[in-house]
Amino acid sequence: MKKWLQNIMAGRYGSDELGFTLLLIYLGICIFGIFCDLPLVQLLGLAIILWAFFRILSRNIPARQAENAAYRRFLSKCSAARQARRSRRQDREHRYYRCRGCGAIMRVPRGAGKIEITCPKCGRKITKKA
Ligand SMILES: [Zn+2]
Repeated sequence: MKKWLQNIMAGRYGSDELGFTLLLIYLGICIFGIFCDLPLVQLLGLAIILWAFFRILSRNIPARQAENAAYRRFLSKCSAARQARRSRRQDREHRYYRCRGCGAIMRVPRGAGKIEITCPKCGRKITKKA
C-alpha cells in the first residue's frame, strides 16, 4: 500500500501551505453544508477540493511553487496590515486619518484641537479634530 502510494506520488508536487488552506476551506464548507443545503456552496466545495487535488498531483512543480509563494506573500501582507492596525489602535498619543485622495495614512498628535491636515503624498487637505 505504501509502495503503491509512493509510486503514484513520484515526481508530483504534494502538499504545501496553500493546499492545506484549501483543505481547511473545504472542511469549513462541508461543516457549513451540514446546516444548510445549498447546491452552489456544495459546488464551491467540490471546486476547491478538486483544485487541491490538482495541485497535489501536479507534475508542474515550478508553477505550484510560484502559486504557494504568491499565497505566502498575500499572507505576509495581511499580517503586516493587521500588525499596523493594532499598533495604531494602541497608540494613545496620536490620531490616524486616511487620505481620501490616495489612501495614505496620516498621523497627528492627539489633543491638538481642530486642525487642517495636508497629505504628504498627494497634498490634499482635510480638516479634522485631533
Ligand atoms: Zn493623499
